[in-house]
Amino acid sequence: MCGIVGYIGEKDAYPIILKGLKRLEYRGYDSAGVAIYNGNEIEVCKTQGKVSTLEEKAAREISRVGTFGIGHTRWATHGEPNDINSHPHVSNNGELVIIHNGIIENYGSLKTELKKRGYTFYSDTDTEVLVNLIEDVQKNEGVKLGKAVQIALNQVVGAYAIAVIDKKKPNEIVVAKLGSPLAIGIGENEYFIASDASPFIEYTNKSIYLEDGEMGIIRLGREVRLRKIIDDKPIVPYVQELQLNLEQIEKGGFDHFMIKEIYEQPEVIIDTYRGRLLAKEGIVRLGGLEDHIEKFLNAQRIIIVACGTSWHAGLVAEYIFEELSRIPVEVEYASEFRYRNPIITEKDVVIAISQSGETADTLAAIKLAKSKGALVFGVCNVVGSSISRESHAGSYTHAGPEIGVASTKAFTTQITVLTMIGLRLAQAKGTISKSEFMRCLSELEMIPEKVEIALKTEDKIKEIAAVFMNAKNFLYLGRGYNFPVALEGALKLKEISYIHAEGYPAAEMKHGPIALIDEQMPVVVIAVESEHYDKVVSNIQEIKARKGKIIAVVSEGDTTVGEMADYVMEVPKTPEVLTPLVTTIPLQLLAYHIAVMLGRNVDQPRNLAKSVTVE
Ligand code: GLU
Repeated sequence: MCGIVGYIGEKDAYPIILKGLKRLEYRGYDSAGVAIYNGNEIEVCKTQGKVSTLEEKAAREISRVGTFGIGHTRWATHGEPNDINSHPHVSNNGELVIIHNGIIENYGSLKTELKKRGYTFYSDTDTEVLVNLIEDVQKNEGVKLGKAVQIALNQVVGAYAIAVIDKKKPNEIVVAKLGSPLAIGIGENEYFIASDASPFIEYTNKSIYLEDGEMGIIRLGREVRLRKIIDDKPIVPYVQELQLNLEQIEKGGFDHFMIKEIYEQPEVIIDTYRGRLLAKEGIVRLGGLEDHIEKFLNAQRIIIVACGTSWHAGLVAEYIFEELSRIPVEVEYASEFRYRNPIITEKDVVIAISQSGETADTLAAIKLAKSKGALVFGVCNVVGSSISRESHAGSYTHAGPEIGVASTKAFTTQITVLTMIGLRLAQAKGTISKSEFMRCLSELEMIPEKVEIALKTEDKIKEIAAVFMNAKNFLYLGRGYNFPVALEGALKLKEISYIHAEGYPAAEMKHGPIALIDEQMPVVVIAVESEHYDKVVSNIQEIKARKGKIIAVVSEGDTTVGEMADYVMEVPKTPEVLTPLVTTIPLQLLAYHIAVMLGRNVDQPRNLAKSVTVE
């Protein structure tokens, strides 16, 4: 998830692009870069770091003069965040310049092909492959930039919002979109392009939002031309008048980043399995894992180290890995693990999970594991982060930047990666039948749709939140795969609403917490269809007998629990192993709405920080 900006008109392009990039930094800030046409040539300046670093570098290195240019703020997916991997990327002949938000899935095969044809690659990005592919098409077919972009994109698998400029045509920007956002701002004899309208809202409120599969040719002095990428069919642009203010635009029209990120989950789960999960072909493949698969298969144990929400994702993985691949798993708080002289040998595999990849305790835990000879595998969201660099191998979650301090999309994308690892190990070990494996892959592919359906219950959840917003305590119960989800639900509520909440395995309740139950106590029970459904039903009865208030997460159409519970939150039916990915959703929404109703600072709750880089 990167931010892209472009300008063509009569004003100075550089200050507009720079300000626009600052507004888009919520989309990523690994590196930043600009390309400005100075009337003679395109000057490119790019650097690792934030837009402010770019500003200093550009002041030293380029003229910053010109009325035509593009800019990028990067959230790395392919290649670490360094100067060379920063965008814009220039094609080999020095004529085409591109900025890109998204992932070109088949960049590997395209790169091999282009190398054979003599192209050189300087960066590790997928984006540099695309710009050279466009150059190659231009050269071979003798077509104009727009056509070359179109032909090239028809060879590409993946997601993108791109803007391409050509030194020979310094009055034109070619844009295209599939899966990543792109808006065109229409001013008086000027055009803007951006990932959202925030970079241009002060200049114009007229905007065209490109739809997936569309491309546009933006040329000064004439109207924007849109076409379908696949068949060149012309499209009549729909120009919208925007009513939103700057802050609303950055939050995508949502009130908080947290709720925006909750709603991003269907999309980012797809980004997480993009190119890794081919359900129909029966393939699940994570680059980092394939290189070390023997080590995993022969591991005496998998030890998962993490903190907070990532630790909960680790607990879900314990159930998945042991059930599917029959490899023993231990899940440890990184902070405990690092100080308790744990027994680790070179026969162990240690998986470290961290959204930021900077969590100090987790980093220390993996250094310890490495020193004892274990293979360390990182599951991080931030590319090039300390944990990803310190690990022997790993898989990124590709959730895009998470701004809300309470983790939401990072959690579900971590579970998505861990589920894929579990399935791959089970396949390689032969501990899963072919039919079950195929079923799990296609069910995993359907999770985004199911998350989408689960999100539709928000209004109902708001009503439940209004009833319980003044409760002093909450209990969250779940069994099996959904016990960690109960922990996570309780954590979400605690961290953003400041209401005390505890998560428990449902059956543990009678060993203590049941003493807390009275008519004041809301108990959230995850009671979706599962092997232990009847047991959970009994636990609900035990709470009812003591007058506790039951808020149940149930499978669509469930009537048994539906009749017993005071309130229900429905989620679509899904195989038990995948249920955490959907049962988490109503719990995120419940915590969010209670916190909003209590007037809490949802995105920046007190005493917390987004990435915990201290012990
Ligand atoms: N894949 C591109 C890169 O790594 C763009 C990243 C993105 O948009 O998230 O540079």
